[in-house]
Amino acid sequence: MDNCIFCKIVNKEIPSAIVFENEDILCFKDINPVAPVHILVIPKKHLTSLNDLTEDDMAVTGRIFVLIKQLAAESGVAESGYRVVVNCGPDGGQEVGHLHYHLIGGKPLGKKIG
Ligand code: IMP
Repeated sequence: MDNCIFCKIVNKEIPSAIVFENEDILCFKDINPVAPVHILVIPKKHLTSLNDLTEDDMAVTGRIFVLIKQLAAESGVAESGYRVVVNCGPDGGQEVGHLHYHLIGGKPLGKKIG
């Protein structure tokens, strides 16, 4: 998708700190981390938000969650705990219009979710 910053990261048009990549998923470090571990996990296919998901995306969505679990373990936060966040739309605080899952951990995150 033209003018999508995460599509540009997928296409290597702009650099990122990639931590995992396969045919349909890319994981890279957030450029403005809110915790010691802050990784973004995205489908390579452009989906603007959760609102774009269809049943065709169920397989990649499932793989993303298994991958998040593996990345949490590799990052050393599986036992201490972590948070997975998906912001959706303006009220949800979504700033980048390409579906992404935040994996955040490495410090106590508290209970505030809204
Ligand atoms: P959102 O608010 O859920 O849309 O989160 C967007 C995230 O993308 C923010 O945490 C940003 O710091 C992050 N971000 C924006 N541009 C880049 C980039 O070029 N590389 C890595 N992370 C980025």
